[in-house]
Amino acid sequence: MHFTAKWPRVRLGLIFTDCELEPDEILDTGTLCLHCGACTRSCPGGAIPDPRDESARITVDFGEKKIWFGDVQMGRCTLSHHGMNNECSPFLKKEFPNMAFDVRNSQMTEEEAYILTYALANATWGRKPGNHAVIDYYNQIISHTGYFAICGAKGCIRACNDILEKSGRIEQTFHNQYYKKESWALPLYPQSAPTGVNPYREAYLDQHYPGIRENEYCKPEKKKE
Ligand code: SF4
Ligand code: SF4
Repeated sequence: MHFTAKWPRVRLGLIFTDCELEPDEILDTGTLCLHCGACTRSCPGGAIPDPRDESARITVDFGEKKIWFGDVQMGRCTLSHHGMNNECSPFLKKEFPNMAFDVRNSQMTEEEAYILTYALANATWGRKPGNHAVIDYYNQIISHTGYFAICGAKGCIRACNDILEKSGRIEQTFHNQYYKKESWALPLYPQSAPTGVNPYREAYLDQHYPGIRENEYCKPEKKKE
């Protein structure tokens, strides 16, 4: 495997081999990464630490050389990548417009995030029409492939590849540019805060039992003595 700064578009999984391989020289940190922070700024989950933040680095000592990389908060990444972040999921926003779960400040672990996101994608609710899926799109993908991804690696892959292409640090470039227009992000908080004693219960009752709450909050007139 020849992995150099020129041709870095390789995403390794796992390779088993009994070949005797002559290892390449370990690249120095910074050979490829510009420490520009584009990935940090573009990650919708706030999962990628600022490369200038020395306290958020993992250092690996190979003896001949030490390298470091950013300690990604994988709970936040998993929440965003698998659809629990309203900023980057129109599907979640549509079904849960009042949810304001701030993934950027979550301390959830990666395992907790997996349990939550996959449970949601598989979830059904009897009152939903059709196949009862809580989020139809997630449910469809996961039932076909067993996996689903929503964030689209906005920061860690797309923003990074874009900046590496523009900087000339990689020679294998795509014909089309990464971004034709500015990236979108949905607002985390609901546009207006619902009011009332229990607006969620009221909205449900009004929709399913029109008129049932008429005069619900009227105070009975006091009898005159
Ligand atoms: S966007 Fe890429 S080059 Fe820039 S800091 Fe992040 S990983 Fe490094
Ligand atoms: S996949 Fe990449 S851009 Fe998306 S949340 Fe995870 S680290 Fe951030």
